[in-house]
Amino acid sequence: MRRSELVFIPTPGVGHLVSIIEFAKTLLDRDDRLSITVLVIKPPFAHNLDSLFQSIAASHTRIKCIHLPQVDPPPEELLLGSVEKLVTDIIDSHKAHVKEAILSSVVSNSIPLAGLVVDMFCTGMIDVAHELGVPSYVFFTCNAAFLGFMLYLPTRHDQLGVEFTESDPESVVPSYVNPVPSSVLPGFAFHKEGGYISMVNHGRKCKEAKGIIVNTFPELESHAFSSFLDDGIPPVYAAGPLINLKGQTNSEANQAEHDKIRKWLDVQPPSSVVFLCFGSMGSFGALQLKETALALERSGHRFLWSVRLASPLGANEIATPSDSQNLEEVLPTGFLERTREIGMICGWAPQVEVLAHKAIGGFVSHCGWNSIVESLWHGVPIAVWPMYAEQQINAFQMVRDLGLAVELKLDYRRGGELVVAEDIEKAVKCLIDGESEVRKKVKEMSGKSRNAVVNGGSSYASLGQLIEIMLGNNVVPTEL
Ligand code: UDP
Repeated sequence: MRRSELVFIPTPGVGHLVSIIEFAKTLLDRDDRLSITVLVIKPPFAHNLDSLFQSIAASHTRIKCIHLPQVDPPPEELLLGSVEKLVTDIIDSHKAHVKEAILSSVVSNSIPLAGLVVDMFCTGMIDVAHELGVPSYVFFTCNAAFLGFMLYLPTRHDQLGVEFTESDPESVVPSYVNPVPSSVLPGFAFHKEGGYISMVNHGRKCKEAKGIIVNTFPELESHAFSSFLDDGIPPVYAAGPLINLKGQTNSEANQAEHDKIRKWLDVQPPSSVVFLCFGSMGSFGALQLKETALALERSGHRFLWSVRLASPLGANEIATPSDSQNLEEVLPTGFLERTREIGMICGWAPQVEVLAHKAIGGFVSHCGWNSIVESLWHGVPIAVWPMYAEQQINAFQMVRDLGLAVELKLDYRRGGELVVAEDIEKAVKCLIDGESEVRKKVKEMSGKSRNAVVNGGSSYASLGQLIEIMLGNNVVPTEL
């Protein structure tokens, strides 16, 4: 049996790790010729991810984690600039350590190195793969349509040479069904401080990879997949949905509180609870929390609400929010008492488990891609409330292109104008009341998502082709 080793280089953030690690486990389960070394970059400001990496290493005998030496953290003032540039610069500053780790701990063992699998923010490591003479594969943690946007960026930049502006007309991006308004473009598209150009460069580097792997499935994003048939785009492999159906994503999570959530959900009627949760970095200020509380109370519906407070570092995405301690001080007077029978407030939630619970009838989400696939998997309709990163364009795709979500706000940005109680209440009612068209479509897509990953399914087949390519067997990828 010919064995092969892959080196994974993930971006050290929860939203990036959950799917790439599921991908690693899926590859190993599919083919026992493969083994994987994960190179761990220590996150300078984000969550403590140590226990997550411990559980990864413990999850499979053929996964090994190597912690790279820490580089000097960037100066704090850089936190106020572009997150995308900051993350890219931090990762790129590890290039020498990555090469050294591969040479000393991977190339030196008897199993041949089959290639590097790099997260979408780690495309600078494709240079290391070139130096080592091995192929590289990009693992794209967002969806296929947004991959199309990233690939479109360098093409547009070569023609126009400038960032987007808020007054730009709609952009025709081939991977989206509808023209994309500038109000839903990711924040970096407008950055003059390096975020835009960092992402243009990532888009360009993606084209040097031997393949691009996306946490999606063709039945969900057929339009995007058909846009990848252009020359110069490497084969795109659908590998999703990749979901950690039982795992814990946050080492600081409070197990006692999670038990309380489970018990509370167990006694709620089926499909009666709206779940509000805004990702690993989502948080609101006091005014917005009050407005949301007002809306929930007026809707009269049951709710499970993950409330997290903005970090003192401010509006920057890299500043991890904290679980709220003094809710009475933040929420409207008497709110907790009045909603005691119908509502529950928590900090970090066991999201996948919550979405799987029969009591959940709808999800108010920030539209991080993991949250979207988790919700679709469990057939729970979303009301979109994007906050940061590419979430606005995800919300746009879900509502306008795919008709798979309810519109709460498409173009909210963290720290932006208040979302008023009336709009939140309307979306909550629309999610929970009755059998809507959206709910029907989401249920159908749930079935398709589950079929995609089993033997005979589209993502299953695509992954099989990828494995053969990785093992050096020449397979011509079929169109998805
Ligand atoms: N998550 C969770 N509990 C929370 C918030 C987030 O378990 O209270 C998980 C969620 O299930 C998902 C990941 O963290 O797997 C967040 O990824 P996503 O892409 O949705 O958003 P990001 O955090 O990258 O903005």
